[in-house]
Amino acid sequence: MATVSADRRERIAALDYDYAAQPKQTLTACNLCGAAEFIILAHRDRYGYPAEAQACRRCGLVFLNPRLTAEAYARFYDGIYRPLVSAFHGRLIDARTIQAEQREYAAERTEFLRPFIPDARLRTLLDIGGSTGVVAAHFAREFGLEGTVIDPAPLEIEQAQRLGLETITGLVEHHDFGSRRFDVVTICQTVDHLLDVAGTLMRVRQLLSDDGLLFIDIVDFRAAYLRNWSVEDAIKIDHPYYLTEPTIVAHLRRSAFEVLRSDYASDHLHVSYVCRSGTGNGDVPAASSVDALLREVRFVQNSPHRV
Ligand SMILES: [Zn+2]
Repeated sequence: MATVSADRRERIAALDYDYAAQPKQTLTACNLCGAAEFIILAHRDRYGYPAEAQACRRCGLVFLNPRLTAEAYARFYDGIYRPLVSAFHGRLIDARTIQAEQREYAAERTEFLRPFIPDARLRTLLDIGGSTGVVAAHFAREFGLEGTVIDPAPLEIEQAQRLGLETITGLVEHHDFGSRRFDVVTICQTVDHLLDVAGTLMRVRQLLSDDGLLFIDIVDFRAAYLRNWSVEDAIKIDHPYYLTEPTIVAHLRRSAFEVLRSDYASDHLHVSYVCRSGTGNGDVPAASSVDALLREVRFVQNSPHRV
């Protein structure tokens, strides 16, 4: 089992965040397919917290279970999340320092999206979980769109306001947009943080105009454990979900999105998708893909190559 280094362990302990004592909820149905047979893949996360990652035996969706309640996650994001990630990496990561990385991210994703942005027909952009607005501002500028950012973190929304974007502090699942529709919806480095992927995608489908485009990316769970050669090191309490190519594509199709193009990002960790509204279908990933995932997890957990 990969070890949490002593320095890192001390920095994390200094935050005094008692994960085990936080209120939690237990999931009894898979968010993707509704099945109830789960298999436990890991018993702790990369920070050393006792968090269980489970996989749905039917469709291969991986998620924390139990996991923090929505209120406990709100408290986590209001003061623990960025300091925890800073402690893990041993350098300051906050609403200001993340902006350089977000600019680089935006530039790369702009080129991925560009071929699908036909001139003039698209006017509005909604960035869900848009953080400091750096990415939304970049897309808005490059593609001539009016940008709106929705994010639950007040400190990050404050940064987004400075960029001249419309800002909404909150969650897309709860916010009332009335009859508003958006021509481009982006969910950047956010889907893994959601509490209800299926519900959010259904909501997005309603918010997207008829000819609109959805951009979404995942941290590919397989990439995360293969690069660390450790399943535990791929798990973190900030991510309720651990998506793979088969599970995110099934989620998108079930919400009536059609994938137009996908992209292995140059960081080799994220996989991005550009989608439009389609008819969709309710298929779940093939049993063979679930078997392949579980076999690979066992291989990584027990191979002599592990670090
Ligand atoms: Zn499932």
